Amino acid sequence: MTSQPSQQITGVYHRKIGDIVVTAISDGYLDGNLEVMRNVDLDKAHTILREAFRPARRTSVNTFLIHSKGRLAIIDTGSGNYLLPTAGMVQRNLAAAGIDPESIDTVLLTHMHPDHSAGLTDMSNGKLLFPNAELVMHENELPHWFDDGAMARADERAKKLFFQAGREQVAPYKNRTRLFKQGEVFPGVTAVPSHGHTPGHTAYLIASGNHQLMIWGDTVHVPEVQTAHPEAGMGFDTDLAQAAASRKRMFDRVSADGTLVAGMHLHFPGFARLARRGEAYALYPEMWVHSFEQE
Ligand SMILES: [Zn+2]
Repeated sequence: MTSQPSQQITGVYHRKIGDIVVTAISDGYLDGNLEVMRNVDLDKAHTILREAFRPARRTSVNTFLIHSKGRLAIIDTGSGNYLLPTAGMVQRNLAAAGIDPESIDTVLLTHMHPDHSAGLTDMSNGKLLFPNAELVMHENELPHWFDDGAMARADERAKKLFFQAGREQVAPYKNRTRLFKQGEVFPGVTAVPSHGHTPGHTAYLIASGNHQLMIWGDTVHVPEVQTAHPEAGMGFDTDLAQAAASRKRMFDRVSADGTLVAGMHLHFPGFARLARRGEAYALYPEMWVHSFEQE
């Protein structure tokens, strides 16, 4: 009698971009409903999911390691022990990939929402989970979540989940935080401000030689629905209209030349290309790339 496997081995996937190796590290997933969507007919949204064989909204949470010029960065940190037990697996998957978190010298954040920044710090004891890393994000982002006026105007859920928790997550990195406007923020990584989902939400373009990867952050949360209806946003977008404009700009940019994209909420491992189809778009997940040779 042999026993059947009872769990997946890893949530790790490597992808070479020129001389840079990008490693997708899964944080797991978060289940939710579509009622958080805005600017889209919910019946239509449900139909799109059903026709894509998705019984409900399941949101992958991905982070990406950047191995470049002898240095190591991670883009986003997952949700740590702060959200649901189906997520918070970054540390476990880093271990599976043979990566010591102490060897990561830079944490780049796309933005400060708990599924991206709660993995910075062990929220139960305030311990840094990336003890040697500089924390790097857009200059609009940090001040927004520390703005007491903005916090006072937010609803109770956002006050606790985004403002209060965000402050606690970044506090231990206070003396090693760098804010940027735009430009190259790590060797081979250029910030592409894409504001609206949050005031400092930023995508990162990875480039080496003539190879490129656009890690587009939270350009989409429900890929099936938002590629069909790019105007559709989320109730937790700080600025719904600006987020939709940024999404449309990003969609046009990457579909125009077939740029490889990766996303924090594309289904793991999250590498895909986007094609324009009239007013809508279609996402084509990339085939599994086995080789470390450049395609
Ligand atoms: Zn997110």
